[in-house]
Amino acid sequence: MNKIPVGILGATGTVGQRFVQLLADHPWFEVVAVTGSDRTVGRPYGEGVNWLMPGEVPTATAALVVQPTGLDLNIPGTPPVVFSALPTTEAKVWEPQFAAAGFAVVTNTSVFRMDPLVPLLIPEVNPDHTSLIPTQQAEYNWPGFIVASPNCSTTSAILPLKILQEAFGVEAALITTLQAISGAGYPGVSSMDIYDNVVPYIGGEDDKLQNEPTKLLGMVEAGRMVPAAISISAQANRVPVIDGHLASVSVKLGHRASADEAIAVLRAWQPPAIIAQLPSSPKELLIYREEPDRPQPRRDRDAGDGLAWTVGKVRECPVLDVRYVSLTHNTLRGAASGALLNAELLVVQGFIGRDLTLSRNGHQPADARVF
Ligand code: NAP
Repeated sequence: MNKIPVGILGATGTVGQRFVQLLADHPWFEVVAVTGSDRTVGRPYGEGVNWLMPGEVPTATAALVVQPTGLDLNIPGTPPVVFSALPTTEAKVWEPQFAAAGFAVVTNTSVFRMDPLVPLLIPEVNPDHTSLIPTQQAEYNWPGFIVASPNCSTTSAILPLKILQEAFGVEAALITTLQAISGAGYPGVSSMDIYDNVVPYIGGEDDKLQNEPTKLLGMVEAGRMVPAAISISAQANRVPVIDGHLASVSVKLGHRASADEAIAVLRAWQPPAIIAQLPSSPKELLIYREEPDRPQPRRDRDAGDGLAWTVGKVRECPVLDVRYVSLTHNTLRGAASGALLNAELLVVQGFIGRDLTLSRNGHQPADARVF
């Protein structure tokens, strides 16, 4: 069986390391190139990286020599695939160049998230938004393309909001987040700033939380993005938690529903059928907890291998209609695992790996594009 060769841009950082960890035994992808800054270029990955994950650096990747980010990365494939965990400044420079050179760029960075021609993608929420790719390629004259994952805080709030939107319509939402320090990368927020403290400011995050859900919950019509008409007011806070972003959300629905009705639709939700074909997708994607003190980062962030949304405290809201608390793992669902699922979706839909025959674990990508 041939695996799809992939590169990781920014492979030594917090999110890059998650990619390395997740791709070590992936049934469809194998890492053939890793890039880093001047600090690590030229050194074997295993020596250059300041490994923060549990366990050892996966052997095959440990031996790869860290390369500078550049178009001469030797990654076979039609199109060649790179996962991007670059810092924003470098992503702004490199991601469009990779797409222009024919690469499929599956990115975690913020640069293209709100570009109307770039799918902002969560397979469970909007798998059909990849239909923007042909328009993107035509308008930017790129043989390759870019697909982006949302901000990790948007991700924590979004799935319950999507389910409520489908069932009752959503007109407005108030979102307050409590975000982990790993969301700021490594070394991130200084210990003196965050220990015994809460910082009610994360640069640009309130705007991302207000804008990204309207794109994720919007529609693609005739190859164009039509954002959802939802007003959102957001406040992001950094809290002294290592991993796991928690979102506390109040929602104004299109038509009123009780808390019990909201709980019923959350419990009854089934992911789009295509999700069953993604090898990294966990069995249970939305876990509803009845206990009044859940979800909690330490106890719930690893649910479903860090890919599940844990939701609780669904109650009527005396100001809007209903409210809930939702939690996801920020560097897994909110970053590397989310992007990996996006890449798996692109394989199943036929956007990448079309020249390869894959058959591990009974997962067989479809020949034709399916949405
Ligand atoms: P990070 O821990 O600060 O890591 C960034 C890495 O980029 C560094 O390790 C550095 O490598 C590397 N780098 C710098 N210049 C480079 C270049 N020219 N080529 C290749 N690598 C280069 O940051 P992070 O948290 O992993 O975030 C990465 C991206 O993901 C950011 O755009 C961030 O906004 C986004 N993101 C992060 C999260 C999260 O929870 N952390 C969630 C969603 C999205 P060296 O080690 O070699 O110096």
